[in-house]
Amino acid sequence: MSKKTKPKTEVHEYQAEMQKLLEILVHSLYTEREIFLRELVSNASDALSKVQLTTLTEEKVLDKDAELQIKITFDENKHKLEIEDSGCGMTKEELVSNLGTIANSGTLKFLQQAQSENKSAENLIGQFGVGFYSVFMVAERVELTTRSWQVDSQAWEWTSSGGGQYEITPAKYNQRGTRVTIFLKEDAKEFCSKWKLESIIKKYSNYLPFPVKVNDQTVNQVKAIWTQSKSDVEEDQYKEFFKQISHTTQEPLHYMHFSIDAPIQYYALLYFPESVGNEIVYARESKDIALYAQKVLIQSGNTDLLPSYLRFVQGVVDSEDLPLNVSRESVQKNVLIEKIKSSLTLRVLKELEFLSEQNVEKYGKFWQQYGILLKEGISSDFKNKNRLMDLLRFNSSLSEDDSHDVSLKNYVERMREEQKEIFYVSGGSRESILHNPNLEYFKKQGLEVLYLTDQIDDFMVTDMREYDGKTLKNISQGDIEGISDSDISVPESSLSKEEQSDILAFFKNQLKDRVSDVSDSKRLVDSPCSLVTPKDGMTVQMEKMMKMMDRKFEGEKRNLEVNMGHPIIQNLSEILQKDKKHPFLKDSVEQLYENSLLIEGLLDNPSQVLSRFQKFMESASAYELEKIS
Ligand code: ADP
Ligand code: MG
Repeated sequence: MSKKTKPKTEVHEYQAEMQKLLEILVHSLYTEREIFLRELVSNASDALSKVQLTTLTEEKVLDKDAELQIKITFDENKHKLEIEDSGCGMTKEELVSNLGTIANSGTLKFLQQAQSENKSAENLIGQFGVGFYSVFMVAERVELTTRSWQVDSQAWEWTSSGGGQYEITPAKYNQRGTRVTIFLKEDAKEFCSKWKLESIIKKYSNYLPFPVKVNDQTVNQVKAIWTQSKSDVEEDQYKEFFKQISHTTQEPLHYMHFSIDAPIQYYALLYFPESVGNEIVYARESKDIALYAQKVLIQSGNTDLLPSYLRFVQGVVDSEDLPLNVSRESVQKNVLIEKIKSSLTLRVLKELEFLSEQNVEKYGKFWQQYGILLKEGISSDFKNKNRLMDLLRFNSSLSEDDSHDVSLKNYVERMREEQKEIFYVSGGSRESILHNPNLEYFKKQGLEVLYLTDQIDDFMVTDMREYDGKTLKNISQGDIEGISDSDISVPESSLSKEEQSDILAFFKNQLKDRVSDVSDSKRLVDSPCSLVTPKDGMTVQMEKMMKMMDRKFEGEKRNLEVNMGHPIIQNLSEILQKDKKHPFLKDSVEQLYENSLLIEGLLDNPSQVLSRFQKFMESASAYELEKIS
């Protein structure tokens, strides 16, 4: 193309990330290319929502009465496709900052994943909104003409061929909004087809609130799905709508659609996605709730409509009672929003209650994904604490595998008559908990113990304190009030009172202030020793977390409990009685202590354990040899 460079044309370089994004998009394969249209139409729709709201709040708006719509036209011969909206448009500054840099966090994540996975960007392109730049999957060249809603705004033309640069030139455009003209690549001519365009719009953009017209014919549904009555909406429409708002091909795990009239009117269509990323669960980002007032979008990512622990919920809330001119700041402080929030929260929790009773399988899937967030709720939502506690699911000593399906209600129903507390033990996994010596007594007695394996659990339990009037009791902490069953009891010790206090004193003298105390155990059956946290002390799980945050964090001192009936302890006692200075004694105490640390995952340096262990094997092998020779 021969072109005279106009004097006012400015040439801009793309931000570095943008160049990377363009490279990936331009070289990507062809199956997902159609999503470029989804992205452009969604931008047009966003621009229309913005100007709709602006019109309600600003006095002077260009083309105030223009119809809010998206018009798509094409020219088969010229391989040209045009998408035009009467939205908010852009000023020159907005053009540079919006289309020259990556503002969208979804786009950045796409880039990072595409680079780290290094395989096909294909699936990712469909999953993430890659935004405006996806147009370069199909475009040889793009001309975007735009004029901002401000009355005396100047129109601008932005052009690029997707290389390292774009150009900005003053333009003539007599109306408010944006027109994107795409000159299609030779191999992308297929998009110049009415049928093709319509089917893509139906697939991705069917539920946009503004008409999308192809050659002057409206293609999409336009009518808001959430204001319709439940019986008028098909299951598939709900699923399609979810795909549209979530920009995924995922089906939702569950959805709820309802409306409320008092104390405040609102419609809600809420989805629980099948899964959400770590950024939602751990980094406390929220899924989007779009807030509409009288069917006008006033906020697309509202985070005040549900408490933070329900941040996986995505959907739409629309209220006839909210004023249209609420600004972002005033939405936060609005009393009506507060009312909607507590009503929505209750609805969601009741729905979960219903699922947990009527659809155990679905609730199981839900729990696996979002259980950790409900646990967070226990510590933050005092009002709904009891409801949340009933929604908790645990693994326990009565579970056959590591499924989490024991509720506190189940536990209490199974409690023994004389049992007053709910027993639990915490650890990194079921596997490691199964090796916890403190569990031995409870297993022998057949007493159910809840297994707490999430990091947040210790904090949650502290905030729960009790359930149904029963205290939650950590079996590795403080004294346990044994619930004795006359048939089963802790092994009897053959050691006399003096012998027992001698061996305990020897342990104590050897370990000094590495432990808070050494005492006779009531909870051990098969193991010689275990570490127990003092009653109000920091649990092992909490200590590990503190150490992760602060390498120099000093751990809690724990009590070493010794099983007086254990053969090792009885033998050690005998050696002690015969030869107080026997070197085997010291080594054994050290080894037993470090074994206990090892089991708790608290042993920082295992080298001593290993060398001592080899020493023991040396004498054991000599002994075995002697026996057979
Ligand atoms: P996102 O839409 O996620 O912000 P995009 O890459 O799709 O990311 O678009 C970048 C920005 O460009 C948008 O946020 C918007 O400010 C601006 N923009 C894009 N298309 C339009 C349009 N048709 N009208 C007005 N602004 C637009
Ligand atoms: Mg976009």
